[in-house]
Amino acid sequence: MVPLVFHPIYSQLALPARHRFPIQKYQSLKDKLIKSGVVEDSFWRPLPIEYAKINAAHSAFYVDSFLNGTINDKAIRRIGMPWSEQFVQRTLHAVGGTVLASQLAMEHGVALNLTGGYHHAFFDAGSGFCVFNDIILSAKEMLKKPGIDRVLAFDCDVHQGDGTALLASEDSSIYTVSLHCEKNFPARKQHSDLDFPLSRGMADDEYLHVVECAINLAFSTALPDAVIYDGGVDIHEADDLGYLQISTKGVYERDKLVFDACKRYGVPVVAVIGGGYQRDIDDLVDVHFQLFRAAGAVK
Ligand SMILES: [Zn+2]
Repeated sequence: MVPLVFHPIYSQLALPARHRFPIQKYQSLKDKLIKSGVVEDSFWRPLPIEYAKINAAHSAFYVDSFLNGTINDKAIRRIGMPWSEQFVQRTLHAVGGTVLASQLAMEHGVALNLTGGYHHAFFDAGSGFCVFNDIILSAKEMLKKPGIDRVLAFDCDVHQGDGTALLASEDSSIYTVSLHCEKNFPARKQHSDLDFPLSRGMADDEYLHVVECAINLAFSTALPDAVIYDGGVDIHEADDLGYLQISTKGVYERDKLVFDACKRYGVPVVAVIGGGYQRDIDDLVDVHFQLFRAAGAVK
């Protein structure tokens, strides 16, 4: 049984009407997994991440200002969601979810969080719907475990993992890889350990070839003891914010390449669902669902 991490609060955030963020997708994804035969016992409920753990990657001033609501308007606009007490609670649980999933992955080999992938969060600022960088925070927690000396952050969201890259830039124990559409947000890219900028309009065959090369190169170069995988689905051909042409089958095959490589190398992997912005929630959830099929959590 593959451990899955979920909290109803993931979808409990009031956003302005017509806000482009599909906040209901998390609950819909959980419902689809249950309908597809995943038992309730597979789900673990996260606690909010502790304050001291957030400070391992973020400035105390930034963390405090977000938690107590004194964060300024410009900083909140960069995050792209209005500040609220609900937003604070949702953020703490979502990030706590990836930390919990990473611990479960080390015990069970693989685990997934039904949110996560806040890869645009920097040391002292949030950006692009990301507040605190769950990928870096989870990597730091994993590195506390004996035998885990290097973590690979493998990011296949269509947007570059710029916050992750910068936060890990002086930390050789976290190896960052990003495969992203070159002409897309963020305009200013950072340097991951390995970057694969992809051209607009790229389709399945070419894309899957790059993914296969990238994961093999990442393993042979980084020799990681654990992997954090961002399986963002904004690479999908129907996505509103991506410019790639990847089919639903292509998403499944990408995720399978990553999980199979982790299995082959005998390395635990925690996966987060990352971005995905199709307006039709059922269609969007169907694409996110591929990650769970590829991980063997569901048929
Ligand atoms: Zn994205």
